[in-house]
Amino acid sequence: MHHPTLMKNYGPPAFNAARGEGVYLYDESGKRYLDFGSGIAVTSVGHSHPKWVKAVQEQAATLTHCSNLYGIPGQQKLADRLVEKAGPGRVLFCNSGAEANEALIKLARLHGRKLSGGEEAKRYTVVAAQHAFHGRTFGGMGATPQEKIQGGFRPMLDGFKFGELNNIETFDKLVDDSVAAVFIESIQGEGGIFPAETSFLQELRALCTERGALLMLDEVQCGIGRSGHFFAFEESGVKPDAIGMAKGLGGGFPIGAIWISEPYAELFQPGSHGTTFGGSPLACAAANATLDIIEEEELLDSITANSVVWHEALQDLVEKYPQHISGMRGAGYMVGLVLKQEGANLTVTTAAREKNLLIVPAGHNVIRLLPALTANLKELAESVRILDEVFAELNS
Ligand SMILES: *Cc1c(COP(=O)(O)O)cnc(C)c1O
Repeated sequence: MHHPTLMKNYGPPAFNAARGEGVYLYDESGKRYLDFGSGIAVTSVGHSHPKWVKAVQEQAATLTHCSNLYGIPGQQKLADRLVEKAGPGRVLFCNSGAEANEALIKLARLHGRKLSGGEEAKRYTVVAAQHAFHGRTFGGMGATPQEKIQGGFRPMLDGFKFGELNNIETFDKLVDDSVAAVFIESIQGEGGIFPAETSFLQELRALCTERGALLMLDEVQCGIGRSGHFFAFEESGVKPDAIGMAKGLGGGFPIGAIWISEPYAELFQPGSHGTTFGGSPLACAAANATLDIIEEEELLDSITANSVVWHEALQDLVEKYPQHISGMRGAGYMVGLVLKQEGANLTVTTAAREKNLLIVPAGHNVIRLLPALTANLKELAESVRILDEVFAELNS
């Protein structure tokens, strides 16, 4: 049942969440779930990691918010750390993935205007990918060519075209002198866990450089360690011009960010874009604690090592249940099992929940596993054991 005073945007909940601890989420009755949804890739260092809790509590008791009218030391530190990972450039903070992407779309407009000799609306098209998801704002929706996202809200924002992910020819045709930027997820999340291939990213980089278009990567879901690299695109060796981040960055506290390489970072000037809440002392304390934990616990190394074992076990499921599962996609702790039947992802998600495993559907036929970056081999194995039971029962 929907709560009588809450909007019905989300389906009626299966349970009320009460508390979290590590990879586990507890409902109000005390039932414990293995949480492999992580609030949709958000609680990256697990629920209520003691170090994260301490940092947030201390910052809340010191200074929560002061606006960007004043300097924020935690924000400066976080920007330094992101620049160290992404490369020379600058960072702007916001509060969500959609907002990060909105800022990137605005960056594309500024870049296009500059290329057009200061003339607005000459070169402003953004080429995104089919099956993409970039958020629910008008900019984000415009870049998200899915009926379930756009339906009911047209007309969309002008200036988006779509190529086919991993098909460079389709982008080659679209990126002409009306195009300001190419914008893709390094690993598509909502669309069904489709990784951009290394060769495709490299060809796209070359294409963008040749035609003067920015290469902007949406790392909102796949970034901040989830793939086993800090950014998922690192595997390809490609250097983007701009990156959008959010979900896992705050470890559960809302924060988003864009990184823009030099010299494009200069396109934003005082007054050209901003947000009241973005990069607050509290949000940055949460994000700095999250990065501390990723570094101190060497999570990128453990994800890379553990995911070899975990992916093999999941691949065994693919082979054991060929009538239900057609394949596996993803990287590190961002994995999709592709189901044979459209819509079966909803049935399997419910069945897994009834066996105390939380997962998230994606696309039309994919179940998505997004454990906390702290998940150990035992916890990963537990997810496979439960899924094995779910598929065995689907069988009978
Ligand atoms: C979730 C997501 C967004 C939108 O983020 P919100 O914080 O929900 O606005 C954008 N891009 C990608 C790739 C996402 O996964």
